[in-house]
Amino acid sequence: MALNYAKRMNNIRASEIRELLKLTQRPEVISFAGGLPAPELFPVEEFKRVAEEVLDEKGTAALQYGPTEGYLPLREKIVERMKKVKVDLESDNILITNGSQQGLDFSARIFINPGDVIICESPSYLGAINAFKAYEPRFVEVETDDEGMIMEDLEKALKENENVKFIYVIPDFQNPSGKTWSLERRKGLVELANKYNVAIIEDNPYGELRFEGEILPAVKHFDTEGRVIFLGTFSKIFCPGLRLGWVAADKEVLNKYVLVKQGADLQSSTISQMEVAKFLEVYDIEEHIEKLKKVYKKRKDLMIKTMEEEFPEGIKFTNPEGGLFTWVVLPKHINARKLAEKALEKNVAFVPGGSFFPNGGNENTFRMNYSNMDEERIVEGIKRLASVLKEALQ
Ligand code: PMP
Repeated sequence: MALNYAKRMNNIRASEIRELLKLTQRPEVISFAGGLPAPELFPVEEFKRVAEEVLDEKGTAALQYGPTEGYLPLREKIVERMKKVKVDLESDNILITNGSQQGLDFSARIFINPGDVIICESPSYLGAINAFKAYEPRFVEVETDDEGMIMEDLEKALKENENVKFIYVIPDFQNPSGKTWSLERRKGLVELANKYNVAIIEDNPYGELRFEGEILPAVKHFDTEGRVIFLGTFSKIFCPGLRLGWVAADKEVLNKYVLVKQGADLQSSTISQMEVAKFLEVYDIEEHIEKLKKVYKKRKDLMIKTMEEEFPEGIKFTNPEGGLFTWVVLPKHINARKLAEKALEKNVAFVPGGSFFPNGGNENTFRMNYSNMDEERIVEGIKRLASVLKEALQ
């Protein structure tokens, strides 16, 4: 039977990572593939208490519909938390979403007509590329160095392309590259967006997971005209299973997101929002984040050290100051998809980098996650991967 699907479905493919994750569920696989937080750090006991208190104190409200914008006490807590990245807003500037992934989908829904241009970093987050693709944009990739997008290249992209609707960036510990934008580039990005009248989608799930140095002000901090739309999430600082994130934007812009949210799902789960608000009230989330950072730093240091010791010559990788990923660049002639198959035969998994480039190419790259495997498995996994690499480079 061939049903008559919409044209947009031609653009939608299964996420390579989600497919790969199915294979890596096997317990014998050492997986550096997903972007999963460490489950042993989820505050299960604390959450039990919070869930019970919410039901005891506000049981009927918790099980009832709520406003599309979200549960006000949670939005107020988010306003407080955004001060950490030097963003000063009111609760009217916050919409609660089902993870920042929903904010990405909504961004494309709000801005993109078929053929419009999205400028993104090269590489960029696969989940965003897939979400945007449903709205049939054209992607223009801009190269990055260790400070973020190269500003001359960004200006060229803005000048040479018509109908650029937004610039999509992950300025802190980017997924997949692990890179972070400097202060100067953040400022420069906003100046260029002002000059060419485009929006900026700032996707920032990892900014608070900084193990070294100071937390940087968000791009939104430099926003003078209300054109930066900040997407936040509880997934990486708390638990992704809750599926709670937020959009922070100028009121007029936020209203578009609210309208779209009404059509998509009316609202995010009332009870989950109340539970998170309660958690933030009775526990110290900063303490929890400190715990995460300590474990992730240790794992990251160990992964980088073992890669330095074990990987053959000619392989480059980033050494991130936070977040969950490091990015590996192989000699040009090595194909990371083929390498991934060989690695999986040795029960090690990573994500080949090609699909992080919306216009293709760059098959000699891959992404490694260090948050989800314990220390012993990190060392063993890197050793196995090194032997696969040595064979490929022979
Ligand atoms: N943006 C980026 C850059 C991500 O890495 C992720 C999660 N992997 C998301 C958005 C989506 O996160 P969530 O929907 O869980 O908030």
